[in-house]
Amino acid sequence: MFAQRIDHIGVAVKGLDEAIKLYRDVLGMKLEGIHHVKEQKVKVASFVMDGETRIELLEPTEAGSPVARFIKKHGEGIHHIALKVKGIEERLEELPKKGLRLVDKKARVGVGGARIAFIHPKSTGNVLLELCEQP
Ligand code: ZN
Repeated sequence: MFAQRIDHIGVAVKGLDEAIKLYRDVLGMKLEGIHHVKEQKVKVASFVMDGETRIELLEPTEAGSPVARFIKKHGEGIHHIALKVKGIEERLEELPKKGLRLVDKKARVGVGGARIAFIHPKSTGNVLLELCEQP
C-alpha cells in the first residue's frame, strides 16, 4: 500500500500561542514540542492524538514565506494533509509517471527528522498532499 495512514494534518495559523490554547487546553491534545523549521520558515507546534496521528500548527516566521502567503490568500485553516509512506524516493519517482506534479522532486527534512515532499495541489484537486516518511 502506498499511503499507510494520515501522519498529520498541517494547519496554518497566524500565532501559535492562541492556537495552542485551543488544541492543548480546550481539546486536551498532548503538545509534543515546538520546532523551528528554518528551511520552510515556520514554527511548528506538534500535537499527538492516539500516539501516532498528529496535528501540526504552522506559524509563518517571515512575510512572503509559503505559509504566510497561504494565510494571506485563504486565511487560517487546513494547509495540507500528510500521508505516511515508506520508500519516499521511489514514490517520488513513480508519481510523475502517474501524472502528478511534484513540488519537491527530492525529499527534504521536516519535523523530527522525517523525510517529506509535497505534491502540487494543481494535480490533486487543490489538496496539498505531503508524503512523510518517519525515521
Ligand atoms: Zn506537514
